[in-house]
Amino acid sequence: MSLVITDLHAQLEDGTEILKGVSLEIPAGEVHAIMGPNGSGKSTLSKVVAGHEGYEVTSGSVTLDGEDLLEMGIDERSRAGVFLAFQYPAEVPGVSNANFIRAALQARLPEGQELDAVGYYKSLYEKMDLLEMDRKFTGRSVNEGFSGGEKKRNEILQMMMLDPKYCLLDETDSGLDIDALKIVAKGVNSMRSPERGFLLITHYQRLLNYIAPDHVHVMAEGRIVRSGGPELALELEENGYDFLKEAVTA
Ligand code: ADP
Ligand code: MG
Ligand code: MG
Repeated sequence: MSLVITDLHAQLEDGTEILKGVSLEIPAGEVHAIMGPNGSGKSTLSKVVAGHEGYEVTSGSVTLDGEDLLEMGIDERSRAGVFLAFQYPAEVPGVSNANFIRAALQARLPEGQELDAVGYYKSLYEKMDLLEMDRKFTGRSVNEGFSGGEKKRNEILQMMMLDPKYCLLDETDSGLDIDALKIVAKGVNSMRSPERGFLLITHYQRLLNYIAPDHVHVMAEGRIVRSGGPELALELEENGYDFLKEAVTA
């Protein structure tokens, strides 16, 4: 059981190659972190794996537990068990958080099968309690007027409810404040299991103070240029990415 990315090349619609041969294997049960300077292709990698439009895969493969993900559309990938968090979905006016998540779960059930409403709310409230979310939150429209921290909480709640096999989290360049980091970490740590894999994308090392990764990778210019254990993140925090320049000029 693993998410396997093999020699993945992807380009923008204008032909600019962004991913230049990325290979990465995330076995279920493991947390992998990708770090790297701005513009190295980290977000692009997560979007290409999740199936976002605007990128063309020119070669390589991505498989989830042996299934070809690249053959699937974005919804199919989501049903197959891929979840990309921190995409900041647009506001959905008039649709409450509770109904939004409920509809997403309902859509995954076989034709004619109704989601058990009592069980749904029980599970929703359990997770909201863990994330220290106010019950009033369920009635508010998706992301409408949410603060940054509320959006993060909401995405983690969605992730916990959808129960994906592989979770991709992209901290994005704006980063998270310390409270948001802790919430994200709490949600992720509660979901860690031998059946589930995580890919954490982070520009800074901070998130990894709260979520201990099994492996750390450095991405630069569209490739994974270094891989190591958790100590690699600490080394990068201390020394930055200067080794990349040395490698280029050497
Ligand atoms: P990172 O997440 O590591 O900061 P990104 O994946 O966001 O890097 O971006 C990698 C490079 O690709 C950057 O130069 C960025 O400007 C470019 N890029 C990514 N997506 C697009 C897009 N949709 N349109 C134009 N340029 C893009
Ligand atoms: Mg960027
Ligand atoms: Mg990014």
